[in-house]
Amino acid sequence: MTLYSHSRLSTFEQCRYKYKLKYIDKIPSPVKKSVEAHLGECVHDALEWLYKNILSGRVPEMDEVIERYANTWQEKDTEEMIIVGETPKQEYFNKGVKFLIDYYVKNTPFQDGTIDTEKRVWINLGEDFPHKVVGYIDRLTYNKERNEYEIHDYKTANTLPNKSKFENDRQLALYSIAIKELYGDKPVTLTWHYLNYNIKIISKRTDEQLEELKKDTIKLINEIENTKDFPVNRSILCNWCEYKQYCKAWGNSIPEHLLREKVPSPYKKYESEEFPTLEKYFKN
Ligand code: SF4
Repeated sequence: MTLYSHSRLSTFEQCRYKYKLKYIDKIPSPVKKSVEAHLGECVHDALEWLYKNILSGRVPEMDEVIERYANTWQEKDTEEMIIVGETPKQEYFNKGVKFLIDYYVKNTPFQDGTIDTEKRVWINLGEDFPHKVVGYIDRLTYNKERNEYEIHDYKTANTLPNKSKFENDRQLALYSIAIKELYGDKPVTLTWHYLNYNIKIISKRTDEQLEELKKDTIKLINEIENTKDFPVNRSILCNWCEYKQYCKAWGNSIPEHLLREKVPSPYKKYESEEFPTLEKYFKN
């Protein structure tokens, strides 16, 4: 049984060589993360903290949320970070503050029926299918009036994708399969919060669409399981690839000692089902 995540599937689709380094050879990446990933991680942490407090009966002040964000930013800051372009790190930090202020003002008093945050879900693709997909839902709400569940996902990206991206999004649709299974086949709404635009985008899937998605995902996983060839795929995304310094497509190579030694993988936790939440922000 192999444990898959949306991120793992996307890595295979993006670049098979990167997939091999990360998930098969388990080569530790030479950089910790991109500044975009750091921003995403700190904003997600602040929103998770906000809703955890709300779930325990207290609505924190906006200042407290910003303070939480600033502290996490400082704690998790590292010199080994990918910064593409000239924008200073401080500007990324400031963006996060703005995201949180806008979100707080728009969503206060936070009475949309939150029932869980960072909820781990297992997606069963078929009774006899041996591989599993695991994911984390940023926030799950239950809307009493409509008797439906809502999967919320926070996005800190600069760009706002077009409508078809949401209609065809695999990640939240996969999570909705698990929520339907867990909560008795109630309707599920997929909601993306694009914090840079302070907007909420909503989409739904029919049962037929979810069945199709299961089939497509099984097909993709079978393809991954049977793949023997892992060519590079140079693209604009290489600029954010944590393996670029080791990548043959860029005239680089993996240091000898990493090939010789058995270095503990940073993704080991993921393999043991703890799954570093950091990983998902690379695709924001
Ligand atoms: S730098 Fe580009 S080609 Fe190389 S592993 Fe990363 S994504 Fe693939």
